[in-house]
Amino acid sequence: DPAVLLLTRDLRVHDNPALVEAARGGRAVAPLFVVDPAITVSEPRRRFLAESLADLQTSLRRLGADLVMRVGDPVVEAVRLAGQLDARTILCAEDVSRYARNRQRRLARACERERIDLWWGPGPTVVPAGEALPAGGGDHYKIFTPYHRAWSGRRWRAVAERPEVLRLPSGLDGDDPLRFFDDPSGRPAAVAAGGESEGRRRVRRWRGHAAGYGDGHDDMAGDRTSRLSPYLHFGCVSAREVVAEFAGNEAFVRQMCWRDFYHQLLAAFPDLATRVYRATAADDWADDPQALDAWRQGRTGVPIVDAGMRQLAAEGWMHNRARLITAGFLVKKLGLDWRAGLAWFGERLLDADVANNAGNWQWVAGTGTDARPHRGFNPIRQARRYDPDGDFVRQHVPELAHIEGPAVHEPWLLPRRPSGYRISPVDGGSAVEDVFEGR
Ligand code: FAD
Repeated sequence: DPAVLLLTRDLRVHDNPALVEAARGGRAVAPLFVVDPAITVSEPRRRFLAESLADLQTSLRRLGADLVMRVGDPVVEAVRLAGQLDARTILCAEDVSRYARNRQRRLARACERERIDLWWGPGPTVVPAGEALPAGGGDHYKIFTPYHRAWSGRRWRAVAERPEVLRLPSGLDGDDPLRFFDDPSGRPAAVAAGGESEGRRRVRRWRGHAAGYGDGHDDMAGDRTSRLSPYLHFGCVSAREVVAEFAGNEAFVRQMCWRDFYHQLLAAFPDLATRVYRATAADDWADDPQALDAWRQGRTGVPIVDAGMRQLAAEGWMHNRARLITAGFLVKKLGLDWRAGLAWFGERLLDADVANNAGNWQWVAGTGTDARPHRGFNPIRQARRYDPDGDFVRQHVPELAHIEGPAVHEPWLLPRRPSGYRISPVDGGSAVEDVFEGR
C-alpha cells in the first residue's frame, strides 16, 4: 500500500518528517509536487523553485524514489495520483497562510470523501504556530519578546533522520522538473542557486562565520548574514535543523524566532498582508505612481535607498538593514501605502513569504498588531551608522562608485554634483526619531 507525499514548502530529503513517515516500514512513496497556476511566481523565484525541484529529484533518485510533477490544483492532483496508485495515505506538511489553510481544508474533505488517510507533518517553522502560547490564554502572541521567551522555553521536536532508501510504487515514472518551467536557465551570477544541496552547502559555510553574527549582522557592505532565507522559504533547508545546528548562537537563533513569530501571527491574522490593524497618522497614503516607480527602480535619489532597491533587482535578495531603510523610506518619507512596497518585495524577493514580508512591513509601517505604531527613521543617519564607509552604496550604485568614503551618502553636499545620478527632491530628513536599533 503506497503513500503519496504532497510536497509544498519542504523541498528536501533531510529533516523532512512527512517523508520519514511516508516511508515508514518500507512503504513505497510517491513524492508529488504540483505546480499550482493559482500561485503567481515571478521569474527569479520560478528559477529558484525549478532548481530546487531538480535538485530534489536528484536526491530522491539517489535514494531510490522519483519525483512526480503535475500542473493543476494540488488537492485534485494528490487525490488523483493516490487513485492511480491505489494509495490509501496522503502526507503533507502544514502551512499557515490563508491560501495554504484553505488548501488543507479542501484536502481533508477530499480525503474523507475518498476514504484516504491524511497525515499532517510539521510546517515550515521550528515551533508550529499555535504551540508556543501565552500562559494567560489566547491562541497567539502579538508581541515578540514574550513570544521569544515562550518559544525558547519549549522542547523542540527532534530533527528527523534522512531515510536511507526509498521504495518506488510500481508503475510510476518520475519527471524532469525543469520541463515544467519555461527556460529557467541563465541565472545571473549574483542570484542564489536554488536547492537543498546548495542550501546545505551554505549552512556548512555559515558555520565558519556565524560567530560574528551578533556584531556583524548590521554591516551592510560586509554581508555578514547567513543568506539562508530563500532556502528556508522553500524548505530546501529546515528551520528546525538550522536552529539545532547553531543552537549556541543566541543572536542568530533570535532572528530565526522572528520568523516563527510572524508565522504564528499570520496563522492568527489571515489578512496580515492586507489589513491595517492600527491606524496611524500615516494611514492617509499619498497617490504618487511616479514616486512609487522611482522607489521600485532604485532611483529615489537617496543613495542608501537606491542601493538597497538595486541589490534587490540584481540579487533577488536584500540585506535586512536595507529592507528596513527602503521600507521606512517608502512609508515615512514618500507617504506611500506599505502594501505597494509589500507587493513589490513579494514579487522580487526569492525569500518572499506572506508571514515574514507582511509581518515586517506592518512592523515598519506601524500598522500592525503590536504596540509601537510610531517607528520612524532617518535614512542618512542609518547610512552613516550601518554603511560607515559608503561601500554598500558603491557596490550597488555605479553612478556613485567614484565618490570616496561616506560622502557618497549625501551627494547633494558635494562641490560637484555627480553626473548621471539624480539627487533626491526629498532630503535625508531628520524630523523623525531613529528607533531602528535592536533589530
Ligand atoms: P539572517 O540575518 O542570517 O537571519 C537568519 C534567518 O532568520 C533568516 O533567513 C530569516 O529566516 C530569519 N529572519 C531574520 N530576520 C528576520 C525578520 N526580521 N523577520 C522574520 N524572519 C527573520 N524575510 C523573509 O524571509 N521573507 C520576506 O519576505 C521578508 N520580507 C521583509 C520585508 C521587510 C520590509 C523587512 C524589514 C524584512 C523582511 N524580511 C523577510 C526579514 C529579513 O530581512 C530577512 O529574513 C533577512 O534579511 C534574510 O537574510 P538572511 O537569511 O541572511 O538573514
